[in-house]
Order: sequence, then C-alpha cells, then structure tokens
Amino acid sequence: MKPVSKHRLRPVLLWLVVFLFVAACYTVPETGRRSLSLIPASQEMAMGVSAFDQIKQQERLATDRAKIERVQRIGHRIAEAVGDDLPGAEWEFVLFENEAVNAFALPGGKVGVFTGLLDLAETDDELAVVMGHEVAHVTARHGGERMSQIFALTAVGVALDAALSGQDQQTRALAMAAYGVGTTVGVILPYSRRAESEADEIGLIYMARAGYDPRAAITFWEKMAERAKGASRPPEFLSTHPSDETRIARLQMLMPRALAIYEENRS
Ligand SMILES: [Zn+2]
Repeated sequence: MKPVSKHRLRPVLLWLVVFLFVAACYTVPETGRRSLSLIPASQEMAMGVSAFDQIKQQERLATDRAKIERVQRIGHRIAEAVGDDLPGAEWEFVLFENEAVNAFALPGGKVGVFTGLLDLAETDDELAVVMGHEVAHVTARHGGERMSQIFALTAVGVALDAALSGQDQQTRALAMAAYGVGTTVGVILPYSRRAESEADEIGLIYMARAGYDPRAAITFWEKMAERAKGASRPPEFLSTHPSDETRIARLQMLMPRALAIYEENRS
C-alpha cells in the first residue's frame, strides 16, 4: 500500500474538523447542550425502528394485559409531555418478559421495559422515573451521538492510515453495536455517564410535565441502591449508570424546578 503524503492528508483533516464542529451539531432539548451529530435524524430513526423490530422478534414479549397497559399508558403520557423536542418521533412502548431490572431506548421513539423492573417500580410515579429517563435518551439523541463519536473516531483513524478498504465491515459492526443492534438486548453498549446524568435531568422534567411526582425519582433510586447492596451483582440498569450518591445528589439539586413544573401539571 502506498503511504499518503502529509501534504495530501492535511486538507482532508481540515475539512473533517470543519465538518465535525460546524455543520454537525445537535442542540439537546431542555439542557441546550451542543452535541455531535453526523447522522441525519431521519436515518437515525429508521435504524432505531429496524433495530427495535429485530429485538421484538428475538426477545419474549410480555402477555400480561394489565402490565402492558400500564407501561403504555405511562409511556404515552410522557411522550405527550415531550412536545416538539423530537419532531417525527414514533413512540412505542413495549414490555418484554425478562426478570432483569432494566429498560432501554432506541432512536426514533422506541422504548423497551423488562417485567423485572415493574416489580421494583411499584407506583406509577416510580415507573415514570425510568420511562422519563429512557424517553430523554431518545429526545437527546444519545444513540446518534454515540454513533457519531464512533464514526468520528473511525474517520480520523481512516484518514490517518489511509486504509479505507477492509475497514468497512468493522466500522459498520461498531456503528451497529453502538445503536444497540446486537443479537440480544444484553449487548447494548452503555451510554457515557454524562449522557446518563443528562437523561436523568431531562427525564425529571418530562415526568413532572406529564403530571408524575418527580420526588419519586429520589425514592426509586434509593430503592435501587438498597437492592444493589444485597445483590452479588448490581442490577444491569445500575451497572452502566452513575453512582447512586452522585445521582441522588444531582436529582435533589434539580428538584425545585421539577416540583414547580409538577405543581403546574398535576391532575
Ligand atoms: Zn440511561
């Protein structure tokens, strides 16, 4: 393979930098943070939809009507509270028969909840904590951001060693994994802690706007922490999330604003 001269590489890198930092930003709703976005929202959503279809075919769907109805009722109430934060979203809330205390979200408005979570989130307010958090991952487009970061890293790597051929498959595999498109739900890559904190913050606003008591976020995460202490392994939902102390302290800081929103919207 012929090495690429530095002379030819420089304009490529320059354009890459311009592309990354000028043309490719997304403003996260509610927090206003600027995030990297290299994939058009429409494409991101299409990938989320097809990934969700795949998961629905592979995983066991719950059959308990009352539980399904509960998840969908809370989910759609929160989705309504999202307003125009994610135009074009097609919200779908699906309950999977799985004892893991877990939930996940995919681009475009697809949220999966495991039956194991329902046993712990006894009240609707508590379930709204987790569902608000997952919906926030979607509107903040954290999946697309993670994928963009992988693309950016890969693009830089490719530009540097000028070896595009043969990398395609690996790049695609990485990108797909970033989206949570794996053979099982278990391979979904964890979000960064920053994304998790941001989803907590936005989720708290959504649940309050939907008329759910945001104070349930504190009691719910305390309950999760208590459960984690007794378990030999922390619940999956916790293992990829910020430490409980940090999380609860942050939520307490955000509570006055969330409570004011809740007072305006409670039924
Ligand atoms: Zn999360």
